[in-house]
Amino acid sequence: MKQVPLLIAGEFVASKTSSFIDVTNPANNEVIAQAPIATNDEMEAAIAAAKEAFKTWRDVPVTERARVMMRYQALLKEHQDEIAEILSQETGKTFVDAKGDVWRGIEVVEQAMNMPALMMGETVENVARGIDTYSYIQPLGVCAGITPFNFPAMIPLWMFPMAIAAGNTFVLKPSEQDPLTPTRLAELFLEAGAPKGVLNVVHGAKDQVDHLLNHEDIKAVSFVGSVPVGQHIYKTATDNMKRAQCFAGAKNHSVIMPDSNKQQVINNLVGASVGAAGQRCMAISVAVFVGESKEWIEEVAAEIAKVKPGLWNDDEAGFGPLISPQAKQKVIGLIQKGKDEGATCLVDGSEATVEGYESGNWVGPTVFTDVTTTMSIYEQEIFGPVLCCVTVDTLEEAIALVNANPYGNGTSIFTSSGAAARKYQHEIEVGQVGINVPIPVPLPFFSFTGWKNSFYGDLHAYGKQAVRFYSETKTITSRWFDGDIPSGPNLTINLK
Ligand code: NAD
Repeated sequence: MKQVPLLIAGEFVASKTSSFIDVTNPANNEVIAQAPIATNDEMEAAIAAAKEAFKTWRDVPVTERARVMMRYQALLKEHQDEIAEILSQETGKTFVDAKGDVWRGIEVVEQAMNMPALMMGETVENVARGIDTYSYIQPLGVCAGITPFNFPAMIPLWMFPMAIAAGNTFVLKPSEQDPLTPTRLAELFLEAGAPKGVLNVVHGAKDQVDHLLNHEDIKAVSFVGSVPVGQHIYKTATDNMKRAQCFAGAKNHSVIMPDSNKQQVINNLVGASVGAAGQRCMAISVAVFVGESKEWIEEVAAEIAKVKPGLWNDDEAGFGPLISPQAKQKVIGLIQKGKDEGATCLVDGSEATVEGYESGNWVGPTVFTDVTTTMSIYEQEIFGPVLCCVTVDTLEEAIALVNANPYGNGTSIFTSSGAAARKYQHEIEVGQVGINVPIPVPLPFFSFTGWKNSFYGDLHAYGKQAVRFYSETKTITSRWFDGDIPSGPNLTINLK
């Protein structure tokens, strides 16, 4: 059985552990590899390698660091299909969706290539007579990243390229459910010329994450995953005086106004609700139909029902299986709860399967209507191909409903009214808003700005905020004398 290697100090090594986690193909649950649970010594070695590498990497000119990213971007593009195939095998994502996962990561590497401009500080000449003040942005040290299963290319690439281009070194702990894709990303990073120890990759679960959180040499922690784990990581990291940015769960609403374009709404809701089997943190899981638009619910449901789950290389498949039997069990359980608690199930995917792959984690597209905000299917993040339809009479009611939800990752509104869109974007308490766009994931020159229970921290992923997160600002005030020293001691705090 293939064992996933650790990357420590520039070498891919087999772990000495005796404990492993199976990596499976979610389409049939066959074991395709084993991820080691790194030992304490291996965790220490990875952190020590990153600490050692920081001593020299921080002084490598930012232009050279950016060139590593340029070579990395070219390699990722060259290997995009191959990475996507690995990704499909371990996540079950369709090949086109897997390519999207890789591509959205490549776009962040392109942003990291801009690091010389992103690391520019500020200057003011003559803040007092003969005195200038200027600031530099300097790296922090060793940073750590803990990533979820659902984007095994994009989310690691949200983190280490920005951190490393800014002059830091990195220890990545990818999801134990799909570590093969991040391993390939790391191989290509070395091929791009990253020096030994600049990126290290360890595998494992809670204990390995806690090791990073409790280690004094780790200066900043980036996490993406579920709410309870995000809260644990944020609390532990900050208790240990580290910086932390923790992206967590979501319940994203799309508000459908009666003046929107019905066909556009249908097309967008289909993809945004069941694409990637609903395993996207920006999936639309609640559609809020305002006024007359509630008459479209059955048509939306009928279109969603046409999408079929299938194998990664089946061109007819709209999405793949869920990641694990546990994930399937959770989603099927919530579908049953929806029925028990009184929602109307217009499309029921709980019995779905794929011929020849009956042991896979299949759940078909599912649509509920008559959903209320006290039902479990509304309150919980389902993370499956399930759309909940809610009806309200006015835009004001829709805004109040979305704002009362504890999550704040993404939302969208479909309307032909500029005034309605403007009111929504202004009043909604959600960090990423789409107007006639279903999944408003910002491109990497912006930042990924979830709010409320979808994010713990202050500086977000990628864009300028990531540069701030992975750096310190040093502000220098200088005076150069040319000739006479002008005055005696200055006993005030004023500059003279
Ligand atoms: P998860 O929280 O189970 O795992 C994420 C990472 O945390 C993994 O690397 C895992 O090994 C580690 N981990 C798990 N339990 C831990 C514990 N008790 N202590 C320390 N570390 C632990 O999440 P997942 O199931 O892999 O991913 C799905 C979740 O991620 C969903 O809730 C989804 O909404 C969220 N997500 C959020 C965003 C975002 O940007 N907000 C993006 C993608 C996914």
